[in-house]
Amino acid sequence: MNEKVKCLIIGSGPAGYTAAIYASRANLAPVLYEGMQSGGQLTQTTEIENFPGYPEGIDANLMMADLRAQAERFGTDVRFGCITDVDFSCSPKKLTIDGEKIIEADTVIIATGASAKYLGLADEQKYMGKGVSACATCDGFFYRKKTVAVVGGGDTACEEACYLAGLCEKVYLIVRKPFLRASKVMQDRVFKNEKITVLFEHNTQSLYGEDLLEGAKLIKRKGEADEEIVDIKIDGFFLAIGHHPNSDIFKKYINTNEEGYILTEPFRPLTNVPGVFAAGDVADPIYRQAICAAASGCKSAMEAEKYLAAME
Ligand code: NDP
Repeated sequence: MNEKVKCLIIGSGPAGYTAAIYASRANLAPVLYEGMQSGGQLTQTTEIENFPGYPEGIDANLMMADLRAQAERFGTDVRFGCITDVDFSCSPKKLTIDGEKIIEADTVIIATGASAKYLGLADEQKYMGKGVSACATCDGFFYRKKTVAVVGGGDTACEEACYLAGLCEKVYLIVRKPFLRASKVMQDRVFKNEKITVLFEHNTQSLYGEDLLEGAKLIKRKGEADEEIVDIKIDGFFLAIGHHPNSDIFKKYINTNEEGYILTEPFRPLTNVPGVFAAGDVADPIYRQAICAAASGCKSAMEAEKYLAAME
């Protein structure tokens, strides 16, 4: 017989764990599946400086470990595993774990977050793990005293460039526009860092190298009269061009926008399927902040509680 739960939470970022804290304190006995990246996107960053309550900042992995411990303290059953398929046509909902086990759930909270985007160059695959990475904090260590490039002009790119500058000899920041999109404070850190060279109006054309990555060919001012090819010698190529929401397996039942972000009711984390709620970055194309994810996790758990009470 299939296991049956009142509340199943998918994802282990701030949204998932906050939902778990609230759901377990409301006696919903939630089961939380961590997904591919235990602790979510924040485990790929270093320090969190903008989460309220930490005047000196906090190590991101430590914060996620604390959130998990808090959820477990109130009885959340945190499990390894990924949801690989769902059937939201019935009640209770049916969810497949790792392609094998099926769990039935009265309510589901989708907190699957978002994943790093790639440029789509064939060379990215070719040099994956041999110079190409989407996580400076995971892989930066391998490029100590070497030369690397970061692609992107947002907060993530600036943060990663600064982090890598602490390890590497030189860091190029490849930005497609003539300006950075990042917050002012992050821009200042980049411009003040002598190890970082910002290449505005550059796009990556290709990567090259015998076995490991050795360099990149960029196009400067693409499409303009003075367009030129720029060759940079690099050992590492870090993508920081944003994320796409992890909503694919739900799309058969759950409405999303064009980019795949789950659509919810205004001010409420309700999806188009009763009993299924969405929290965090998977449903947030605008703010994408840990504190916003945590808040929507809280709302989802409160809605799940309300839904279950109405069922009874
Ligand atoms: P953003 O969407 O903010 O920025 C993505 C960057 O990548 C933009 O500069 C964009 O260029 C560039 N880009 C996108 N596609 C391509 C492409 N195909 N080729 C070249 N460049 C490309 O993503 P972030 O991950 O930086 O940030 C997401 C959110 O998280 C933001 O709200 C940010 O403020 C927040 N954040 C906050 C942090 C903090 O407060 N400590 C740390 C990190 C993130 P263009 O500008 O031309 O569109």
